[in-house]
Amino acid sequence: MSRTDSEPKIVVLGAGLAGLTAAWKLAERFSSRVLLVEREAFTGGMAHTFTDGEISYDFGSHRIHPSSAPEAMSVIRELLGEELVLRERHGRLRLNGKYMHYPPDLASFLKGLGLINTIRGGADFLAAKLRPPLEDGRAVSYEDCMIRRAGKRIYDLFYAPYAWKVYGINPKTLSSHAAKTRVSLKKPLAIARDLVMPKRPDKKYFYYPSRGIGTLAEEMEKRFRDLGGELLLDASPEAIRVGSERVQEVIVKHDGRLRSVRVETLVSSIPLRETIRLMDPGPSPAVTESARALRWRAIRFLYLCVNREFCCESETYYYPERQFLFGRISEPKRFSPYMVRVEGKTVICVEVLCGVGDMFWRMDDGGLLRHVQDDLIELGLLRSEKEVYRVFSKRLPAVYPVYDIPWPDNFRTIQRFLDSVKNLYAIGRGSLFLHDNMDHAIQMGLRIGEHLTRNDTKTHEWTTALAAFRHFEVRD
Ligand SMILES: Cc1cc2nc3c(=O)[nH]c(=O)nc-3n(C[C@H](O)[C@H](O)[C@H](O)COP(=O)(O)OP(=O)(O)OC[C@H]3O[C@@H](n4cnc5c(N)ncnc54)[C@H](O)[C@@H]3O)c2cc1C
Repeated sequence: MSRTDSEPKIVVLGAGLAGLTAAWKLAERFSSRVLLVEREAFTGGMAHTFTDGEISYDFGSHRIHPSSAPEAMSVIRELLGEELVLRERHGRLRLNGKYMHYPPDLASFLKGLGLINTIRGGADFLAAKLRPPLEDGRAVSYEDCMIRRAGKRIYDLFYAPYAWKVYGINPKTLSSHAAKTRVSLKKPLAIARDLVMPKRPDKKYFYYPSRGIGTLAEEMEKRFRDLGGELLLDASPEAIRVGSERVQEVIVKHDGRLRSVRVETLVSSIPLRETIRLMDPGPSPAVTESARALRWRAIRFLYLCVNREFCCESETYYYPERQFLFGRISEPKRFSPYMVRVEGKTVICVEVLCGVGDMFWRMDDGGLLRHVQDDLIELGLLRSEKEVYRVFSKRLPAVYPVYDIPWPDNFRTIQRFLDSVKNLYAIGRGSLFLHDNMDHAIQMGLRIGEHLTRNDTKTHEWTTALAAFRHFEVRD
């Protein structure tokens, strides 16, 4: 052990937007007593921008929605100032061989669906509404829930393939919770209301930082360091030592050395499974098993650097159907010209949903390109593979929580255990097994910052805040 801190620290694990916001806000009060530990060489987590020469890349298509929570929006404005740019939204979703606007308006939705599907889908929808309610009033599976909401035809056409693609499992085995977390899956009547309300701001505009989505994290990091906070990059927590129902110590590996950190409070925003694995002594087998049972869907981002000014008319295309390996394609230069600072070139980012270790996770970049290039040409996004002068990929292992039917029981088992450790707080997407947006991550960071500034224990107020995080609705 190379170093032991004399003063106990407030340790934050994970420097994504949730962990960074928390660390920054805590540093405003506790300054150098805050230690932020990040496994990667950069901050921002999923919302990171990396640069190579004159091109910058985000992890997939990231936009700031105008409907973001006001408190998160004011943080974003404070951090970005004039760099926050309002852009028109031109998303397209392909269904049944046709493109429609995304988020959809009524005309393009009906056009995309086609006459026959509209008539049959409408009849099915009415039939679904006439079915008697379930005995306990609640659908258990996603399939049950969505057929009851939308009818069988629309379910088969859109909701079932979409679920297969995002979660990688049969929608019969998916919990109805998956249908409740995304705005795009809400009740058809609510969708219908949105379809005929063309002025909803998320439909027309989005905000974007002119130098890439990662600017948000860069600005937070700067403020955190300026306040005296300590950030360890390329650092891994090796053990979380617990005694007397409190985290006493965290062992961190950094620069090849182990450091023992005495802990006053631990805020973890890393995947829950990791937090549980690091606990020493480990929790009961039931908790460990429950943590192992929480599965994640991964994404492989395939970046194609192309010898052309632009490839796409829209900034983002959505492909819910299973015939396409990818779920989404974006062109960063359409988000901001800064992203490609060289003439006659552009980039398209292809998001391939996969599982860690499966063939699409392991396949080399050239092989993955061969899998998608014919589709890209047929869809008119590429003219030929010869236009591509460079291809490379990045992987994110834990992106979409797989809400299978047993997940709520597994999560509750772990939650009960975490509640028993008095100075351990879980926030963020990974730690709460949450599908969320950036503004939600920022909100969670703000909440824990406020809470720990006023309290040194978990209060009823905190439990209420934690429960509210589960009700975040995801916008695409
Ligand atoms: C492709 C894609 C598109 C998206 N588009 C949008 C969008 O348009 N609008 C929007 O609002 N949101 C969008 N999101 C969601 C948004 O990016 C996330 O919800 C948000 O960034 C999550 O922040 P977080 O801090 O909770 O988690 P993360 O960003 O996952 O941060 C967790 C951090 O913990 C670190 N970590 C993990 N394990 C360890 C360990 N053992 N030790 C130390 N550190 C560790 C990770 O490296 C990471 O930095 C998108 C997400 C993706 C993947």
